Amino acid sequence: MSKKSMAVYPGSYDPLTNGHIDIIQRGLKIFDKIIVAVLKNPAKTYLFDLDERVRMLRAVFKEQDKIEIDHFEGLLVDYVKRRNITTIVRGLRAISDFEIEFQMALMNRKIEPRIETIFFVPSESYSFLSSKLVKEVYMLGGEVRSMVPLLVDRKLKKKFRRG
Ligand code: ADP
Repeated sequence: MSKKSMAVYPGSYDPLTNGHIDIIQRGLKIFDKIIVAVLKNPAKTYLFDLDERVRMLRAVFKEQDKIEIDHFEGLLVDYVKRRNITTIVRGLRAISDFEIEFQMALMNRKIEPRIETIFFVPSESYSFLSSKLVKEVYMLGGEVRSMVPLLVDRKLKKKFRRG
C-alpha cells in the first residue's frame, strides 16, 4: 500500500481567514493530509496567542481527519524534519508575496535540500485578503464577515469588545 502523502502548511494564522482555508482545500486535492502548523515566534506580537490560534483552527476543522492542527517554535525546517515530511505548502497571493516566499523557499532548501515548497494560488476573491487586513478592518469597526469563518468573526468581535 502506498504511503500517505502529507504536507505541512505553516503560518501565523492570526487569525485564520477564508484565504487560508482555500489553500488547505486546494492542498487536499494533491495530498492525503495537510498539517496546519501554527508558528509561535517569540519576537512577534500576535492579536491571538498561540493557544487561541490553535483552538480556533481545531474548532473550524473538527471532524476533518485529513487536516491536522499542530504548532511549532523555531526553524520550520527542523519542525518539518521532526515530522518526517518533505513538502511545505504556501499560498501565493499577489506579486507582493512572491519575493519573500521565493527567498524563504530557497533558504529552506539550502538548509535541508530534501525539502520542496509547493505554492497554491487562491481564488481571486481571496487574493487581496490577509490576516493583517482583517485585523485592521475590525479594529476600525468594520465588518469582514465573508472573509473569515463564523467562529473567527465571533472571536474578533470579542477581542475588540463588540460581541
Ligand atoms: P505568515 O506569517 O507566515 O505570512 P500567514 O498566516 O499570514 O503566515 O500565512 C500563511 C501562508 O498562507 C502564507 O503562505 C501566505 O502567503 C498564505 N496566505 C495567507 N492569506 C492568504 C490568502 N488570502 N490567499 C492565499 N494564501 C494566503
